[in-house]
Amino acid sequence: MSPIRILDRSVAERIAAGEVVDRPAAAVKELIENSLDAGARAISVDVEGGGLRLIRVTDDGSGIPAEEVALAFQRYATSKIARVEDLDTIRSYGFRGEALPSIAAVSRLTLTTRTAGADAAVRAVLVGGTLESLALWGAPRGTTVEVATLFFNTPARLKFLKSGLREAGLVAEVVQRGVMAHPDVAFRLTLNGRDAGRWPASSGEARAVDLLGAGGAADLIPVQGAIPSGTVAGWLGRPEHNRSNRAAQYLFVNRRPVQSAMLRRAVEQGYAQLLPVGRFPLFSVFVEIDPAALDVNVHPRKLEVRFRDEGRLFAALARIVRETLLAHPLVRQAAAAARMAVGSPAEAAFAHLPAVGQHASALSLEVHEPARQYAAAAPRRLPPLCPLGQLLNTYILAEGPDGLYLVDQHAAHERVLYERIEAARRKGGVPSQTLVVPLTVELTPAQMALLISHLDVLSTLGYTAEPFGARTVLLRAVPAAGDARGPEDLFRRAIGALSGEEGAEDMLERLSIATACHTAIRAGDRLNPEAIEALLHDLAAADDPFTCFHGRPTIVAVSRAELERWFLRR
Ligand code: ADP
Ligand code: MG
Repeated sequence: MSPIRILDRSVAERIAAGEVVDRPAAAVKELIENSLDAGARAISVDVEGGGLRLIRVTDDGSGIPAEEVALAFQRYATSKIARVEDLDTIRSYGFRGEALPSIAAVSRLTLTTRTAGADAAVRAVLVGGTLESLALWGAPRGTTVEVATLFFNTPARLKFLKSGLREAGLVAEVVQRGVMAHPDVAFRLTLNGRDAGRWPASSGEARAVDLLGAGGAADLIPVQGAIPSGTVAGWLGRPEHNRSNRAAQYLFVNRRPVQSAMLRRAVEQGYAQLLPVGRFPLFSVFVEIDPAALDVNVHPRKLEVRFRDEGRLFAALARIVRETLLAHPLVRQAAAAARMAVGSPAEAAFAHLPAVGQHASALSLEVHEPARQYAAAAPRRLPPLCPLGQLLNTYILAEGPDGLYLVDQHAAHERVLYERIEAARRKGGVPSQTLVVPLTVELTPAQMALLISHLDVLSTLGYTAEPFGARTVLLRAVPAAGDARGPEDLFRRAIGALSGEEGAEDMLERLSIATACHTAIRAGDRLNPEAIEALLHDLAAADDPFTCFHGRPTIVAVSRAELERWFLRR
């Protein structure tokens, strides 16, 4: 590393100012980043009392030359940049020279460090930012920073951090982000003296499997592609392995963990309609981008970054994720389906059968088509299916090229209707069916306001409604999409779909979904052979026949091999 020097005023003034260390996890993040910048191959983190009692970060990196140790605790003292222009090509985590002085100012800090060439280590002790002692010490090459009694001299801050447990959780998260970003570096974490994680140096894939909580590499789909001025790479969770929150989402820009709503939305957009409503994908995505196309100097803790060309980056990332997901076979195999639906009737149904769920069968039904264009759908095809009948008034059974196929009649019909409605509305409007007798529907004032401002949107979808008094409307027509049973119910769902996030396109799509969902054949509906034939035919013609828009599968395959295993034929 270059020697540590104090940044010129002109450079220091260009640096995003703010509180660097507001909680233990922030200190841990800075210390780990210093270790990584120093080229460490192994980093251990020990934390006690959520980091308020003790944080110790030990690395085997370059160390700090003895004569520079005191300097490292000066504000704006850094070895990583020297000139304003360096900010445009920054590759290191640090560049502000603020972390060590900021942490030292609010703790009792001991730094022990030794460079490769030195005869001994040096130990510096600081209390509240004041250097108390500097002495030679015996220690191996590398650096250990011990931060005791963080915030001991800022009681207001301490009071604000109540639970040690919560802080320990945040520390673990910070460590995990480092672990994910640097598979070639070994990490170890202890909390209150107990082993909380050991990660020997390994591959990015192994780390992703571990930290995303995937069952194995087969549950992750590798992603790779080009974006303006850079590349993306990483791992995407298969859509069926979704979560109720975003904890298993990792985003990095040039290996720097970031919180970027833009990048997150781009990835999630790639999963559009492949996930159940209200569920989130798991992923670890690395954006590598020319530092000149990026501003990392916008957030005091560098959690946010700014891109020169947000719009194109967003579109490229969403498209890459989409294409990657769609290039993977989406017909669930029975074994995989059973494994995914833990505790569900699907699993129960398979539970007494031997061997199912032990191994995912060799998929004879892979969809080998090249990745399709995002939005402009080059259709992915179902195999030819010959209907066998209906099961439990809910599933259609069919024979296909390599075994048995089960189609969820509701999910399949939803998909068919949704595509039909979307196509009609894009062409100018969904055809209506006029009610023989108009219905009077009572609405709340809020619903009424929503309705009045969206009459045109509703009419595009095939609904004709006339306000009639302060709280009532006359419903004259509903979409001719499917079965018009319960037109009032259908209409109410449509009103429900009007609220939610703005954006005309989103709203129209929500309306299409609500309409398709409510007019589709339901589970429990008895279907005659003609209706079964028609549904399979329509599903085969769909652009995306494999999932309904809630992300549930429309079709599951049981291969010949699977059947043979069930009957112990091999
Ligand atoms: P910055 O990382 O922005 O340069 P810091 O205050 O975090 O500022 O660190 C100041 C300097 O101390 C760094 O530039 C680096 O030279 C040195 N340093 C800090 N931690 C380590 C470490 N673990 N190993 C080697 N050098 C370190
Ligand atoms: Mg630093």
